[in-house]
Amino acid sequence: MLAEAAGELRLPAPAPGTGVISSWDLSIGVDGPGTRFVVFTAGCALRCLYCQNPETWRMRDGRRVTTDEVMAEVGKYRRFIAVAGGGVTVSGGEPLLQHRFTADLLRRCHEIGLHTALDTSGFLGDRATDSLLADTDLVLLDIKSADPKAYRDLTGVELEPTLRFARRLAELGRPTWIRFVLVPGLTDDPAHVDALAAFIADLGNVDHVDVLPFHRMAIEKYERLGLAFPLAHVQPPDQALLDRVHAQFRAHGVVSV
Ligand code: SF4
Repeated sequence: MLAEAAGELRLPAPAPGTGVISSWDLSIGVDGPGTRFVVFTAGCALRCLYCQNPETWRMRDGRRVTTDEVMAEVGKYRRFIAVAGGGVTVSGGEPLLQHRFTADLLRRCHEIGLHTALDTSGFLGDRATDSLLADTDLVLLDIKSADPKAYRDLTGVELEPTLRFARRLAELGRPTWIRFVLVPGLTDDPAHVDALAAFIADLGNVDHVDVLPFHRMAIEKYERLGLAFPLAHVQPPDQALLDRVHAQFRAHGVVSV
């Protein structure tokens, strides 16, 4: 694991009733069903080569907020997102780095009748209590590769915790969408895609896989932060590659969109 990313795991948890966020925003279609109020928590123990949100990596770059403050903001949009069939998504960064704050947000959104989603890499899935998961209507689980070495090369951490979390979600019957970023040369190995499709097909609680084509739109963000985008030389997948990957998921009976 990269030293800076590993350091995020050693930071003291924010005081009860508080958390550290990077931002919040409204989104449509990508962070769960309907219009979502998305809370981007700060801090992540991964350093995915294609990460689009490097500004969320370090907790110390975030803003300290109280749960009450976030809920007051949610309240402004509550009726709108409910009518639009949406809800609240806790994303990041990695929301389970601040699992108590995340649990509080999910519970309080649930208490006011809002649909809740948790967007996670699953690496810290062991930190999600059954109660947190009971307050989560939908898990958006990023499985970046089914091959341990490719996963480590891409993220800096081990794959197994994510697979363990996926199996636990299946045992608990929690509705889950899988997200898979298709990066030519990194995540497109046919055997790895096949292994991922077979793993997902066995779970039984996955509605579908979002196959997200790699893109380079974050390059300017990296430049502003004084960082080099590691995949600046990689092209987005072409239609033929996308078709092949979708066909591989379908061959295992997995819906991919
Ligand atoms: S887990 Fe998400 S936020 Fe963390 S580095 Fe990977 S893509 Fe970025």
